[in-house]
Amino acid sequence: MNSDSLTNLKTAKETILIVDDSPDNLRVLSLMLKSQGYDVKKAISGRFAMQALEVIHPDLILLDINMPEMNGYEICQLLKEKPNVADIPIIFISASHGVLDKVKAFRIGGGDYITKPFHLEEVLIRVENQLTQARLYHALQQQNDQLKTEIDRRCAVEMALLEANHQLSLLASLDGLTGIANRRRFDEYIIAEWQRAMREQHPLSLILIDVDYFKNYNDTYGHLLGDDCLKKIAEILQRMSQRATDLAARYGGEEFVLILPNTSQCGAQKVAQRIKEAIADQTIPHKNSSVSEQVTLSMGIMTVIPNIMMEMADFISRADQALFKAKSEGRDRIVSMNYGEFM
Ligand code: GH3
Ligand code: MG
Ligand code: MG
Repeated sequence: MNSDSLTNLKTAKETILIVDDSPDNLRVLSLMLKSQGYDVKKAISGRFAMQALEVIHPDLILLDINMPEMNGYEICQLLKEKPNVADIPIIFISASHGVLDKVKAFRIGGGDYITKPFHLEEVLIRVENQLTQARLYHALQQQNDQLKTEIDRRCAVEMALLEANHQLSLLASLDGLTGIANRRRFDEYIIAEWQRAMREQHPLSLILIDVDYFKNYNDTYGHLLGDDCLKKIAEILQRMSQRATDLAARYGGEEFVLILPNTSQCGAQKVAQRIKEAIADQTIPHKNSSVSEQVTLSMGIMTVIPNIMMEMADFISRADQALFKAKSEGRDRIVSMNYGEFM
């Protein structure tokens, strides 16, 4: 920073508080500093200085050390403990030339030390030095605060972006009507679980589910009630996918699918049976169904421990064939098949 920009940091007339028990010193110093354009306040004792500091906030304090009642060191120590005045630079003025006194003055937070009898030019230069340092310090602090605010703002924006992205990817994998996983999510998940089941040699089960006579349902009750019916079915399927790794998804139209990792055929049959019972309990009227007075489902179950010779697409299409069998055998039923039955 050059001297021009340092001068620019000088915002208003700077205030200097002189604390000295000698009226002569107070007068001489005051006259000299006033003549240099400073606003000068005087205190004849430590007690007066402390009182003055309740109402003014000087930019610098010139502090005599040897004073009755409270000496300069004590005043300095008190001030450094008070957060609102601790950063006011202090220049000690003392008749003592002792090194130990000077060291003590710096140790307790003094910015500079002038020995008496003082030379006015020296006092002035040291005062200016302290004020310049203080100005720089405040400018740095301000920049620091601005930087902190900017960092906080950017962090907040970043967090909001992360959250928005998270929400977006969630939305991208959810079905708009029913709120359960969509076909896209199913396609991703089945690949991951197929590979995991192959690696770990665990059974993977799939339940394909189709609403019986749903076209009739729409024709009888209207498309909006048809939508409501699909939502109710989706809720049940979601509820029945109890393990953290289970996934219920809308496969398309009025077809749904459950992926049940690490689940045997017997386990998948139990889940399907629970779904069947839950739908029956829901008693959604369907007066134009040929199998029941309520909405019913047909389900096809396929279970496999995948190996390298198998194709995942075959696995899915075999679940579809099991579903087809459930339809052709009369609907409102569960058909489960082994992979080998199709070979
Ligand atoms: P099946 O017992 O053989 O399954 O007969 P189905 O009538 O259920 O089967 P089909 O495939 O003939 O008809 C499916 C119907 O599902 C037709 C379509 O209007 C309806 N559907 C598909 N998606 C939606 C949807 O998002 N909302 C509503 N309300 N209906 C849908
Ligand atoms: Mg269908
Ligand atoms: Mg159907």
